[in-house]
Amino acid sequence: PPSLHLQYNTHSVPRHARQDRSGFRTVKQEGAAPGKSPTTPRLSERPTDRRRSMEARYAELRRAVEETAAVDAHAHNLVDTASSLPFLRCFSEADGDALAFAPHSLSFKRSLKEIAALYGCEASLEKVEEFRKAQGLSSIGSKCFQAANVSAILVDDGLAFDKMLELEVHKEFVPTVGRVLRIEWLAETIINDDSFSGSSWTLDSFTETFVAKLKSVASKIVGLKSIAAYRSGLEIDPCVSKTDAEDGLRKELTGQRPLRITNKSLIDYLFTCSLDISVQSHLPMQIHTGFGDKDLDLRKCNPLYLRAVLEDERFAKCQLVLLHASYPYSKEASYLASVYSQVYLDFGLAIPKLSVQGMVSSLKELLELAPINKVMFSSDGYAFPETYYLG
Ligand SMILES: [Zn+2]
Repeated sequence: PPSLHLQYNTHSVPRHARQDRSGFRTVKQEGAAPGKSPTTPRLSERPTDRRRSMEARYAELRRAVEETAAVDAHAHNLVDTASSLPFLRCFSEADGDALAFAPHSLSFKRSLKEIAALYGCEASLEKVEEFRKAQGLSSIGSKCFQAANVSAILVDDGLAFDKMLELEVHKEFVPTVGRVLRIEWLAETIINDDSFSGSSWTLDSFTETFVAKLKSVASKIVGLKSIAAYRSGLEIDPCVSKTDAEDGLRKELTGQRPLRITNKSLIDYLFTCSLDISVQSHLPMQIHTGFGDKDLDLRKCNPLYLRAVLEDERFAKCQLVLLHASYPYSKEASYLASVYSQVYLDFGLAIPKLSVQGMVSSLKELLELAPINKVMFSSDGYAFPETYYLG
């Protein structure tokens, strides 16, 4: 719905104030017993007193935040409980052998306790998995989304999972579901389409199809999303020549199918074309920045690399949302949001994947320079309803 666009500017609630579960307000620490502060008390003021006075001071804010349903501005599809995706992935971006170490991370220990408390079961991975199997997706989905108090989710459905649910199905859990279109996914879908297997694309014919498709869905989606960071990095050249982009397309077409575009010139070209449409259609562009799974080269995910795009007058009026608190480049992201009107920030994934201290410090860094109304909430939930709840 078009009304969702507005929520980027006006109604997205910075959820940091509501993260009681995650310890922002009670300064709890992973593993610490409830009610015990980890910091050394001053003689004049014991931790419980300090907490009480903080609680009293912000009681009204807490109430408002808890009562206001939030727009979860960036998330992904849920999967059926029969999906082959291991539940351990609920807690980590790691894969393969590295995933086995996930239970030893602070965020895993905290998150598991929070899920177990919601389900009223023992805080062990086995018991939580038993509970979710016995209850089924409908029941655990309702529990998680109700507890999260989310009124809308904006879903980037370009991330593929085994037994992924259609967007419509998410309405069982959330009143409003908006679609965010991943541009690299769209380009790959067009090229991988069997009817175009002749590899007879020229840059012009491809651009015509790509732009026509984007324009045809523009009124039905709530934003665009780019994972350029995952493919060739954020040093996007908005003036990439058509010759270089054509050359990139030709190289990609000689590769294996299904195609996964990695050529920098082509990725930059796709980004620039899409940004044109986003300006014309008043659609925000969400950009992956900072950490993620190891498909990305984190060195290339610093948002400062976006300078050429940010300095380009053609795109001065667009809305660029830097996702994931750009962690660990949160200060850099905050700076960009303070000097470029088109830059907005989103702290999904940093919350809840970091430790409590990590979440607190990255959010503080985002707020060091950025206007507060540009710092937005999302869960970056995916696959498991619990990720939306934790976010
Ligand atoms: Zn995401």
